[in-house]
Amino acid sequence: MSHDPVPLDPVPLDPALPARPQLLDHTPAELAACLAAWDEPPYRAAQLSRWALARGATTFDAMTDLPVALRARLAAAFALPPTRVLTTTRTDDGATTKLLLDLGGGAVEAVRMDYDPEEYDGAPEGGAARARSTVCVSTQLGCAMGCVFCATGLQGFTRNLTPAEILAQVLVFTRDAHARPVTNVVFMGMGEPLANTTATIAAIRWLVHPDGLALRQRGITVSTVGLRAGIRRLAAERLQVGLTISLHAPDDALRRHLVPTAGGTTIDELLALGREYFATTGRRVTYAYALLAGVNDSEPQAAALAQRLRGERAHVNLVPYNPVAATGLRRPTHSRVRAFQRTLQAAGINATVRIERGAAIAAACGQLRSDYAQSTHAARDGLELVPLEAVARPRSLS
Ligand code: SF4
Repeated sequence: MSHDPVPLDPVPLDPALPARPQLLDHTPAELAACLAAWDEPPYRAAQLSRWALARGATTFDAMTDLPVALRARLAAAFALPPTRVLTTTRTDDGATTKLLLDLGGGAVEAVRMDYDPEEYDGAPEGGAARARSTVCVSTQLGCAMGCVFCATGLQGFTRNLTPAEILAQVLVFTRDAHARPVTNVVFMGMGEPLANTTATIAAIRWLVHPDGLALRQRGITVSTVGLRAGIRRLAAERLQVGLTISLHAPDDALRRHLVPTAGGTTIDELLALGREYFATTGRRVTYAYALLAGVNDSEPQAAALAQRLRGERAHVNLVPYNPVAATGLRRPTHSRVRAFQRTLQAAGINATVRIERGAAIAAACGQLRSDYAQSTHAARDGLELVPLEAVARPRSLS
């Protein structure tokens, strides 16, 4: 029997984290219990949560409708999410913003896309009027999954992020009064969210909580290489959260090559997990397929993928590769991408192509952090990031 290969949950936290516990590492129920134990009236929990999330307070002192004595007590007991932004990069006429956020003991990328990142053929899904703003968050510093095409995978794994550190990546955008309201959050940044399932679910609970950010559950998507235990745990939460499973190959041998740590789970097992997720949540699973020139982008491979997916309630999101220099891998031509999509569609498979904005700011996950690590800014800011040249070279795809 196969098993999830890298059970990373839980991982000890970095000792460099602040001594005071993070307020948002606690659940709504825990905060309510804490305030009740302090003899505060029941409505204080909602007030505090709204300040920390919807109102984006960066200090307890800013929570002006809480009594001064309570603000002081909270400040002595808890820390609020980190806010220090190391770099900000914008492209697509300001529609894509990528930040590097200092967590104290590490830096993490977060991206806001003021468009639907899964719009297709150049036309926004649902029409141009839809004012979507999607934040893509990271769940780990680095990643242990080792996908051979990924900048983050090349950096290796440092540690899991806490719920507060995940939420900080959304809050840094929601606090911007001049930006569009955030409507969607996708867990597709650095790290494997379902290797950090506890923190991922805790963060989601705050994102959708009426006293938190009150986002729609359907506006949240978790992306995974297919960790069985994590998928089942997420399904058991019975949230209406979307799930994306990374396939990247039509056969198990190639998939093991591209996603080496997921080698214990076959494509048939992943499809079975997708059916399970649908049966439990009613949400159809998306299968992500990174298109790599000369590796997995041929029409016979598209036909083989269509064969595997026939009869599934499957949606395939084709992601033309954003090249990472150290991998030597390339993006397929536009015509090859469209040919792959047409082959799937001709077989009755719902297949779309991920919009390719953001390439100009190194939007492939982990690239900004890599670039930053190699810049003089990292030394200036006192951060220790793994320089790209110091990590293992990727496995050959021959
Ligand atoms: S693609 Fe995702 S799961 Fe794979 S190494 Fe990169 S961050 Fe990790």
